[in-house]
Amino acid sequence: MANATPSPIRVAIIGGGLAGATLANALIKHSHLEIHLFESAPEFSERGAAVGLSINSQNGLGQIVSSADELLNKAGAVPMSSTRLVIGSGPDAGTLVHDLADDLAGREPGKVLHRASLLRELLAPLPKHILHANKKLTAITPRDDGRVKLTFQDGTIEDFNAVIGADGIFGTVRDHVLQDVAKEHAATAAGFWDCRCLVPFEKAKSILGAQHFEIDRQYGWLGDGVMCMHDVLENRESVQCVISAVETDPPKNRKRTLTREFLNKTLYNWQDSQIAKGMIDICLEQEGAQGYSQWEHKSTPKYANGYVCVAGDAAHATSPWQGSGAGMAIEDAMILGALFGEVSSPKKIPAAFKAFDVVRRPRCQRIIDSSRETGLLFLGKNPDVGLDPAKMKEAIAPRWNFIFGLDMESHKGEAISKFKEFL
Ligand SMILES: Cc1cc2nc3c(=O)[nH]c(=O)nc-3n(C[C@H](O)[C@H](O)[C@H](O)COP(=O)(O)OP(=O)(O)OC[C@H]3O[C@@H](n4cnc5c(N)ncnc54)[C@H](O)[C@@H]3O)c2cc1C
Repeated sequence: MANATPSPIRVAIIGGGLAGATLANALIKHSHLEIHLFESAPEFSERGAAVGLSINSQNGLGQIVSSADELLNKAGAVPMSSTRLVIGSGPDAGTLVHDLADDLAGREPGKVLHRASLLRELLAPLPKHILHANKKLTAITPRDDGRVKLTFQDGTIEDFNAVIGADGIFGTVRDHVLQDVAKEHAATAAGFWDCRCLVPFEKAKSILGAQHFEIDRQYGWLGDGVMCMHDVLENRESVQCVISAVETDPPKNRKRTLTREFLNKTLYNWQDSQIAKGMIDICLEQEGAQGYSQWEHKSTPKYANGYVCVAGDAAHATSPWQGSGAGMAIEDAMILGALFGEVSSPKKIPAAFKAFDVVRRPRCQRIIDSSRETGLLFLGKNPDVGLDPAKMKEAIAPRWNFIFGLDMESHKGEAISKFKEFL
């Protein structure tokens, strides 16, 4: 008598943002899994402007999809061949502090692209029947046999063998994983706000100065407690313009109304800077211009609890100063993809999630802490460095090595060996 084909292992991914969509690509390759991706919004969509993918993010993506380059090209990615940090205000205004491209040490540069285009291209190869929009998770209940009961807002109930929460910084799966310590490890304000706008390329060029757009370069103009940044997107069709500043009084609703008076005060010593004036005008041109608080997870005691785990921002939300939030989500997906290749029966899932936790948590927490410190450095708030260009260069230059230099094969190998240890 022929052996009956074993039932597939059912895996639910909660949240169809960049983390959930990348994860679905990493897991769909395994024919012994049945994947479902649930998104609470009426459709899969990305808010916000640009996302930068550094070389480790691109390498991670390359481990998940057949051609990361092709996917990123279709999404209109532009290479960041140079990221210049220049003093924007005060006595050293105009002094080049550092070009982050110099830290690549022969590695490929990062790429910057529109978030919605990246999500579109990540969702494109996934079978339609696994994508469930308008499906908000409301409760997670472990069953005695190891399966997990998921209840959705529309009243439906489904059982899964594994649940991965990619439901973002304020998601509910994190609460289930952390249980009674969830509150004390919830996200808090990182100490900065920012305002991000997308403007047509020609408009940005004329407002901010054509000399800054001769090559596709990202510029960060550094000042006392504030930074202005612009980078070119979508095959030179648009430019992301950002004002970021120190936030000492985080508003409860995480946003603040921006006025000319407030922005002039924030950029108080930028004198006649074309960049400052241009950025303020660009910002205020938006209807109801808002500055958004940056929030982060300062600590997370674990990423997994039995048959449930968290990934992406649900596990490790960070401030954006080292451009690594999406990159960490991609690395998570790569590791979970490798681990689930080894999960031949549902009872091995807790060991896989535990291995994921042990391998990913120290790296992600280090990036969160480093990103916050980098923000303080950029804004001249490191007391030993201030806005001294030479000291800034020395302090900033080495900060990306541990992020860019991740060896994907050995990271996966470490996860698999932990998994075998935990079985
Ligand atoms: C200002 C800013 C700039 C950034 N710049 C960069 C950068 O340059 N480079 C970089 O690598 N990263 C960057 N990041 C970080 C990056 O954007 C995030 O880390 C990444 O988008 C997080 O993706 P996610 O899928 O984990 O979370 P989210 O994008 O928040 O997605 C979560 C999804 O889950 C859904 N959801 C929530 N609750 C439920 C539920 N109960 N049921 C079902 N679905 C649910 C939500 O609707 C949402 O679609 C930046 C972040 C910010 C804020």
